[in-house]
Amino acid sequence: MTDIVNVETRSRMMSNIRSKNTSPELLIRKALHARGFRFRVHAKNLPGTPDLVLPKYKAAIFIHGCFWHGHRCRYFKPPQTRQEFWLEKIGKNQARDELQIAALRAQRWRVLTIWECAVRSMKKQRTPLLIDQIVYWLLQGSALAQIDETHLESACSQTVSVTTSKV
Ligand SMILES: [Zn+2]
Repeated sequence: MTDIVNVETRSRMMSNIRSKNTSPELLIRKALHARGFRFRVHAKNLPGTPDLVLPKYKAAIFIHGCFWHGHRCRYFKPPQTRQEFWLEKIGKNQARDELQIAALRAQRWRVLTIWECAVRSMKKQRTPLLIDQIVYWLLQGSALAQIDETHLESACSQTVSVTTSKV
């Protein structure tokens, strides 16, 4: 099967997916704002232009698309054609992500990466758990952390088991 769209078109399609103010990002921004957190968005003065920055907590947050940043989860499906091209591109993104996180850490920022799959899972399960976890991280989390779907699911099952044991 051949790719219907050419590389340039696909590149544009993919970059639209990646564009700023994507819905996972807006969802998280709204939820954090509702809980009283104030932040700057797309802080260009910081390495990697973090999606959210909370100077009060010395915290920088990235909300990463699983395709573009090569998260090995069920949403990562390399295109059928030109795989080498895309994998190389994604590999470069990953390398850049690492450098940017290292640069932020060197400036003593704490860094949280939230994967798109965690946001999808939150939407699907209609749970505020992801937001709880972000808040927990802001208040007392480690210097470097990430939240993905698996992380969220294991937190979910912990919550469930606690509830069950009370019954
Ligand atoms: Zn993912």
